[in-house]
Amino acid sequence: MAGPNSERRSFDAIIIGAGQAGPSLAGRLTAAGWTVALVERKDFGGTCVNTGCMPTKTLVASAYAAHLARRSADYGVVLQGPGGGEVGVDMKRVHDRARKVTLDARGNLEKWLGGMTGCTLFRGHARFEDADTVRVGDDLLTAPKIFLNVGGRANAPAMPGLDQISYLTNVGMMAVETLPEHLVIVGGSYIGLEFAQMYRRFGAEVTVVEMGPRLIGREDPEISDAVREILEAEGVNIRLNAECISFAPVKTEGADEGVCVHVTCQDGAPQVIGSHVLLAIGRRPNTDDLGLDKAGIELDKRGYVVVDDQLRTSNPGVWALGDCNGKGAFTHTAYNDFEIVAANLLDNDPRKVSDRIPCYGLFIDPPLGRVGLTEAEARAAGRPLLVGQRPMTRVGRAVEKGETQGFMKVVVDAETKQILGAAILGLNGDEAVHGLLDLMYAKAPYTVIQRAVHIHPTVSELIPTMLGELKPLV
Ligand SMILES: Cc1cc2nc3c(=O)[nH]c(=O)nc-3n(C[C@H](O)[C@H](O)[C@H](O)COP(=O)(O)OP(=O)(O)OC[C@H]3O[C@@H](n4cnc5c(N)ncnc54)[C@H](O)[C@@H]3O)c2cc1C
Repeated sequence: MAGPNSERRSFDAIIIGAGQAGPSLAGRLTAAGWTVALVERKDFGGTCVNTGCMPTKTLVASAYAAHLARRSADYGVVLQGPGGGEVGVDMKRVHDRARKVTLDARGNLEKWLGGMTGCTLFRGHARFEDADTVRVGDDLLTAPKIFLNVGGRANAPAMPGLDQISYLTNVGMMAVETLPEHLVIVGGSYIGLEFAQMYRRFGAEVTVVEMGPRLIGREDPEISDAVREILEAEGVNIRLNAECISFAPVKTEGADEGVCVHVTCQDGAPQVIGSHVLLAIGRRPNTDDLGLDKAGIELDKRGYVVVDDQLRTSNPGVWALGDCNGKGAFTHTAYNDFEIVAANLLDNDPRKVSDRIPCYGLFIDPPLGRVGLTEAEARAAGRPLLVGQRPMTRVGRAVEKGETQGFMKVVVDAETKQILGAAILGLNGDEAVHGLLDLMYAKAPYTVIQRAVHIHPTVSELIPTMLGELKPLV
């Protein structure tokens, strides 16, 4: 460790964290002639590239292939061979494929940053020493502008018995190369459900334990119910209303055999015995070990950095981007934070977070694409509303592909005719929903889409039809 007299190295900017905002910001700042120190303590690319979006969506693709192979007879395709057409999943190859996707992305990012003129990379954990100085190991770095892009990690609150068992989070799941016999997933929200379906499709028994009365509790109830039906139809066990959850190791002759998850639910057995437990009960920001108090940077009571609409913190020389500011929890929101900061600092363009329309996907199969308000949120605003809905059984492309689960739904302001929110749970829902999202950004009335001619046969082609059948929401 360097002593208090370590020499300070000065830069125009310091970026802490090479997640989804930091690297792009480094690119823009250096292109504008700034000197930048970029600090990363672990893997370049952060959560999304290494333990989040990229590996999970790659695994989801393998799980889809297994699912489709099992359904091949539905399409008149016959699996042949010595196994009589049985579908097997080689978990090592599945994981090798996911690892390659991650390593390629991480490697490309490292190469780009390593060759970036004006950018100096520091590997290590950064902590503030004072308002404009950061220590990384022996290095003391100082800059008039500092950008936090430190992300978050899986939440693991004190739950009875949790300290007695080994459990997994999204990080540990990436290293599980054999098929769990029975994966118990605590948390029935976005991350938990993606793992639930993929591991069921890989061949594991899967139980989801959710404390609330329904899955993905932020969504409208009919979406939660439809998602539950989709998962249950594939054999995922779902335990809702698990008001009291505790854990205990299961030992046979002294050796660990698995984990007992005690669940006090309204229905079902009081315990679930699993071989593996995955905790997927939310995320928390990586702000507790940054020395933020030394830099006068305020946190809210959940530990997120308090920022204004242009992502400035309570320290006028520090900005916070991505998951650590609590304004978004997605790769696209982190990246948009970069765009907002860069636009304000370099382009004299006063972009702000409040211009952003919420949007996200749940990447089960079929996926859920969501934009804007839920029906419940729209109702709470107290304005007259119109609602449209169409089951995927009445979408030709879905029928042709034999993938008719789910439905699409839109909520419209009856007076302004503007779309307030939409959900497409179904084939290509994550893509098709963008037509509605873009119209919302254009602040155009829904009638514009009604006059647009869409390509046949697609999921999007039924959006104008749905909009032609809007009904008042009572
Ligand atoms: C399983 C899973 C699946 C997901 N799937 C999706 C998805 O499909 N779509 C989507 O949009 N989002 C998804 N997300 C969320 C997405 O990964 C995050 O929203 C995104 O990565 C946030 O980016 P970020 O830049 O804020 O932080 P991160 O990507 O977490 O990057 C933060 C970086 O900062 C570094 N760091 C932290 N503290 C320090 C320090 N003190 N010093 C130096 N370095 C530090 C970390 O090592 C890390 O590299 C998923 C998340 C998970 C867990």
